[in-house]
Amino acid sequence: MNLKKIYFIGNWKMNGSAKDIKQIHAVKKYVSKKQNNKIEVVFCPPVTLLLSFCHEFKNKIIKIGAQDCSDTDLDYGAATGSISCKQIKDLGSKYIIIGHSERRANGDDDKVLSSKILNAYRNNLKIIFCIGESLNEFKKNIAFKKIKSQINNVFSKNRKILSKVIIAYEPVWSIGTGMVPKLEYLNKIFLKLHSFLKSSYKYESPLILYGGSVSKNNMNELKNVTKCSGFLIGGASLKSKNFIDILKKYYN
Ligand code: PEP
Repeated sequence: MNLKKIYFIGNWKMNGSAKDIKQIHAVKKYVSKKQNNKIEVVFCPPVTLLLSFCHEFKNKIIKIGAQDCSDTDLDYGAATGSISCKQIKDLGSKYIIIGHSERRANGDDDKVLSSKILNAYRNNLKIIFCIGESLNEFKKNIAFKKIKSQINNVFSKNRKILSKVIIAYEPVWSIGTGMVPKLEYLNKIFLKLHSFLKSSYKYESPLILYGGSVSKNNMNELKNVTKCSGFLIGGASLKSKNFIDILKKYYN
């Protein structure tokens, strides 16, 4: 029996409309019946739905998170099109994803990510920090070097923050592709990451999630990844049935 809390975090990306709140209600119904305080279920809808979802699930078993934030250190001000961590927090959001590969591909470099991390930390949001190598880096066998540098480039000057952060290891080549690394490979990466976080950052019990094409079809394998504290789930988080099937596979 796993005594650690396991995280199932749904990233809706640029999907969903108001009516889709029913998907989360269905998941809530399932999770409530399980009465398991070792499970944390979080949905990160697009910003258009953040206010209504935060309102609907205030003080509920399901938590709501944002997918991104502004990198300015302003709480309010002249930053057209942006939303600050203060605003996200005020909505009732508990979590925030920072450093998703789709944001990195859109220009979020280490400097931008460092500012976002500081803002989120200052506003007491629980940070899910995404790291992961490209297919080319995977093939060249430099995945660990890459993810280590993604961590160091953002946290070496803010070391104490890292132990409050949930790391999501998401090989970029696995996101939305249906391709999932082999268990043996994931075990190696998770063990190395775990000991790196402990030795270099004094992060004693690191929370590390796996993300990339998670589905009910690969959950039997993925649930055996050593030192894995849960999953960041994109496509399969949009429909309650797919998400609940993942939970069922994990717990059965
Ligand atoms: C993601 O968006 O972080 C993700 C892992 O997506 P998918 O599950 O669709 O691969």
